[in-house]
Amino acid sequence: MPKLSKLEKQNRILKQVEELFSKAKDNPTKGNFYVHKLRKIAMKVNLRLPHYLKQKFCKHCYSYFYKENYRVRTRNKFMVYYCNNCKKYSKYGLKPKSS
Ligand SMILES: [Zn+2]
Repeated sequence: MPKLSKLEKQNRILKQVEELFSKAKDNPTKGNFYVHKLRKIAMKVNLRLPHYLKQKFCKHCYSYFYKENYRVRTRNKFMVYYCNNCKKYSKYGLKPKSS
C-alpha cells in the first residue's frame, strides 16, 4: 500500500467526519456519541475541523447541538451559541459573504 501524505490522510478523515455528522443529524439522540467518535479520529491526524462543522457541537462539553439543547443569537456580528447542557456560550464570527 502506498504511503499517504499527511494532507491526503486529513482529507480522507474529513470525509469520514462529515459522514458522522450526517449520521448524527439523522439520529440526534446519539449525537454525542458521534461527536466523541469523530473528534477522536480527527485528532489522530491533527485535523482541524472546518468552522461549519465546529458549530454543530458545544466546544466545552462536546454535546451535539440539536433542536432543544441550544440557542443561537447574533450579537455584534457574532453568532453566539448557548449550550443548555453546560450553560456556557460559544462565539463564532458570522460567515464571510461570498462574492
Ligand atoms: Zn456545552
